[in-house]
Amino acid sequence: MKNQDILQRFLFDGTDVRGAITTLSSSYRDIIDLHNYPQTVSKLFGEFLVAASLIGASLKQAGIVTVQATGDGPVSTIMAECSQGQKLRGIVRGDWDSFDNSSVSSSNNLSKLMGLGTLAITIEPEQGERYQGIVKMEAADLSGCLEHYFDQSAQLLTKIKISVDQSVASGLLIQQMPITQDFEQAKDDWQHLCTLMDTLKSNEQLELSHNDQLYRLFHEDNVRLFASQPVSFFCSCSLERTESALVSLGEDELLETCKEHGLVLITCQFCDQQYRFTENAIKAMFNTKTNILH
Ligand SMILES: [Zn+2]
Repeated sequence: MKNQDILQRFLFDGTDVRGAITTLSSSYRDIIDLHNYPQTVSKLFGEFLVAASLIGASLKQAGIVTVQATGDGPVSTIMAECSQGQKLRGIVRGDWDSFDNSSVSSSNNLSKLMGLGTLAITIEPEQGERYQGIVKMEAADLSGCLEHYFDQSAQLLTKIKISVDQSVASGLLIQQMPITQDFEQAKDDWQHLCTLMDTLKSNEQLELSHNDQLYRLFHEDNVRLFASQPVSFFCSCSLERTESALVSLGEDELLETCKEHGLVLITCQFCDQQYRFTENAIKAMFNTKTNILH
């Protein structure tokens, strides 16, 4: 079993194909350990975290990538976010208590768990315009939906394979960039690389190092592998952000809640961090905000 949390980009010299490979172990476990999702739900969640990491790898500037699906199945929402520096967090919502998890295999869990719905990819650069692309979830698995997304929204041929077990989540992506070389040659190269990638097995993804996986698949294809970037679980919530969110509810309502429950308790849905506000803290909060305004 691999124990590493790294993402690496690579390219194939002499072609217009690039790629990314990622493995999440403790980052993945840190996230799922916070929740009590059934194993099949955790594994599907792991696929989304891998997808966020792979797509985050292609960001040209600082920003946040969000991969979010909503459906009419027992799992209604899965959201995974990758921010600058491969920092991951995410959340799952649904009502799966009565769902028979044993009917879900590893190959079609997206359609079984989420039913019909949409997959949205959002890119929020620190500077510049927010971009969102949405596709219907028509493929049975997440990789298929992502390939469809790239084809539709960016006209980029993309091939993705993701494997997840209880402790490791790993993914490989290759992508045909706008072609600068001979078109027929580029088509052949792409086909050749896809055929090789089809031979990658789940246990290889989960057990082999990135080097070994890429060597096993593409040892005749001049892979240039870039330095690894650490991947980690990190939540961007803070006392300050929680306060700003609370202020919009208004002082009266917050003081009312305080009277009823003794305090206002906010729990971050991503990391379970609790923020507690007493009556005095709330009053102080509004005093500060008012002072800033005047
Ligand atoms: Zn948090």
